[in-house]
Amino acid sequence: ATPTAVMVATGVGANHGVLVKGGDALERAQNVNYVVFDKTGTLTQGKAVVTTAKVFSGMDLGDFLTLVASAEASSEHPLAKSILEYAFHFHFFGKLPTSKNGMEQRKEEILSHWLLEAEDFSALPGKGVQCLINGKKVLVGNRTLITENGVNVPSEAESFLVDLELNAKTGILVACDDSFVGLMGITDPLKREAAVVVEGLKKMGVEPVMLTGDNWRTAKAVAKEVGIEDVRAEVMPAGKADVVRSLQKGGNIVAMVGDGINDSPALAAADVGMAIGGGTDIAIEAADYVLVRNNLEDVITAIDLSRKTFSRIR
Ligand code: ADP
Ligand code: MG
Repeated sequence: ATPTAVMVATGVGANHGVLVKGGDALERAQNVNYVVFDKTGTLTQGKAVVTTAKVFSGMDLGDFLTLVASAEASSEHPLAKSILEYAFHFHFFGKLPTSKNGMEQRKEEILSHWLLEAEDFSALPGKGVQCLINGKKVLVGNRTLITENGVNVPSEAESFLVDLELNAKTGILVACDDSFVGLMGITDPLKREAAVVVEGLKKMGVEPVMLTGDNWRTAKAVAKEVGIEDVRAEVMPAGKADVVRSLQKGGNIVAMVGDGINDSPALAAADVGMAIGGGTDIAIEAADYVLVRNNLEDVITAIDLSRKTFSRIR
């Protein structure tokens, strides 16, 4: 393609909210044979909502929610936000969450009245959070976090958890002083265009892959809903780039679509990194493309644009 053609294509992309950082990235996109999608916030809306909270230790449900919300209060993770939201509604309205209302602005102030102080907080990427509350060690996170700490999950809780996961929900487990307390089920709906885009890519001869830190059962349930067969789950943040590199073996051209800090190394490792607009700044920096509209259809737009720009003169 001539420099003019590249300039025109860049402009056409920009008009669609597809920002590309340079002609090389624009050219590489035409040959993509794998598109790796991060699950949370990329295929899904990134608007997690708690659907279930269940105590297995005899603790009062309100106290349980206070404990979990207090532990998650310092976390930036979308799951943490949904847990605080749920606990807030429970305590403030004494019932399950309904719609947003005028209390929104006062939320932090209200929350601060009943949240317990969490000391020695640490976020454990890909696993959850850990802290001390009233001198007790509190763990909130996935199975890996809980079992690593030697906490025994009762079989009744385990089957409840499996049931959540089979229904595409993420199960969050809670332990206090290394004994199991209860769990929460969180749902994050797919973006409305996700399945159509996956199908469109297949028709273009591009293989879609789902990559997530979430557990296998949930990942598979979500992948099935969206039409993706190739799933890589329970991948720690540091492992996401390794998955991209393994797909590149044999000369494959790999695109990675992601939104989070966790995704940045994989976005950088990919031949074509695509950051979702509204995602983390670090992800946007690491990527070759920014999809400003936060619409997955633009993954197809980007590949199409590259194919059209570079095929004519071959
Ligand atoms: P993804 O790759 O889907 O964006 P992450 O790597 O951020 O997911 O997290 C993977 C898993 O780790 C989550 O599904 C969850 O089970 C657990 N996790 C991470 N952060 C938290 C948190 N703040 N609270 C509870 N669980 C968490
Ligand atoms: Mg994500």
